[in-house]
Amino acid sequence: MADDAPLFDPALLEDALDRSSRYLAGLGERRVAPDADQTAAASVALGGALPELGTDPAEVLRLLDEYGSPSTVASAGPRYFGFVTGGVLPAALATNWLAAAWDQNAFSRVSSPIGSILEGIAEEWLVALLGLPAGTAASFVSGATMANVTGLVSARTALLAELDWSVEEQGMFGAPPIQVVVGGEVHASMRKALAFSGFGRERVVRVPVDDQGRMRADMLPTLKAPAIVCLQAGNVNTGAFDPAHEIIPALSGPGVWFHVDGAFGLWAAAAPERAHLVAGYEDADSWAVDGHKWLNVPYDSGIALVRDRTAVVRANTIRATYLPDDPADRDPYDYTPEASRRPRGMEIWAALRSLGQSGLEDLVERCCRHAARFAAGLEAAGYEVLNEVCLNQVLVSFGTPQRTLTVIEGVQREGTCWAGGTEWQGRTAMRISVSGWSTTTEDVDRSLEAILRIASVTPLAEED
Ligand SMILES: *Cc1c(COP(=O)(O)O)cnc(C)c1O
Repeated sequence: MADDAPLFDPALLEDALDRSSRYLAGLGERRVAPDADQTAAASVALGGALPELGTDPAEVLRLLDEYGSPSTVASAGPRYFGFVTGGVLPAALATNWLAAAWDQNAFSRVSSPIGSILEGIAEEWLVALLGLPAGTAASFVSGATMANVTGLVSARTALLAELDWSVEEQGMFGAPPIQVVVGGEVHASMRKALAFSGFGRERVVRVPVDDQGRMRADMLPTLKAPAIVCLQAGNVNTGAFDPAHEIIPALSGPGVWFHVDGAFGLWAAAAPERAHLVAGYEDADSWAVDGHKWLNVPYDSGIALVRDRTAVVRANTIRATYLPDDPADRDPYDYTPEASRRPRGMEIWAALRSLGQSGLEDLVERCCRHAARFAAGLEAAGYEVLNEVCLNQVLVSFGTPQRTLTVIEGVQREGTCWAGGTEWQGRTAMRISVSGWSTTTEDVDRSLEAILRIASVTPLAEED
């Protein structure tokens, strides 16, 4: 390499930018799910044995774009309604590019002062936006699953410390037992978080739920402290919220910790028109929310919020001779299960700064309005909407389970939009989740037209 050659070839970086821009420009018109033949071609073209010799970076990028781009799901586009995940806001995407160039290790203030600063600011903004108690700590983790784990291990630390048991030093074997309460419709990842944190998926008391999946406040168990009560803000099928304003006052007491899985639903707190849904949630002790779902930042972004800062730090901190040891400093490694990682709070900072309070409120409300429009259009055509559409989720049945599955498959294959299937309390349904910032009313109408057209030509199955 010549002495004056740049470390990073600008032509390569511009090529990456051009290819990304072209990809994004095509998102609105391409089919949402990739073609199966294209996907098969990608796995052949990109696979095989690792070559002995290296490949020019420009060629690596060309291969990825030519075979990889057509094999993506257009989940960043306006007509993807799968899995309660959103797209990516322009400010968050551009920030993600800059963050990649910075290549910061955000595990400590020393290794990334700016990473630590931005996460500290994002913490303050999030606590205010979500209406949580002042001083609540934010942990920037990989997703809501790890945010749930972070909430649970903080709970475990605090509840057992009260009983003079250090779970960090002594572990869980032989520790005073902690009762765990969940709703009958607890999210699968919350159960996984219970397994990770030593509580076990099945070692729980389940509270019966109503037809929307909400915990029934009239069927709460008698608690035996210490106890952790896991509430859900936003059921992954119906969007419904456990009635925290009834449950927390009823069960609250010494040695009781309330944890909230609010992966997507907790963002309702940022929209005054949805405030009734989150009533009482501010009285919990820990909350898990995703960045990469409704906030529309790139993947690998969840946030645990813990009221008791001492507990979250005690559960996560590491000490080593080469690490700074001033407890007054906010070192990110004191807050997350991970040590080395990228500064995830950066894109959250950028998304919030670009939206402002009113922009976030508008994002949430717009998605809810689109969901209501889907529901109205489907009902007007004679199909049964199975849930009360209180948020951004719509469950619709097209008759028998078989016919519903055939419609879902037809919609996915046709490509105008994408929605997945689910089972809701014994019924098979299409689940439409509107979580992307870029969906317009026109996208909803275009998607409705496609769904209704496909449903109208789907024959009744034999058993109909
Ligand atoms: C998506 C989701 C999770 C898991 O979040 P990840 O970010 O995928 O780890 C947990 N709870 C609910 C209600 C969810 O919707």
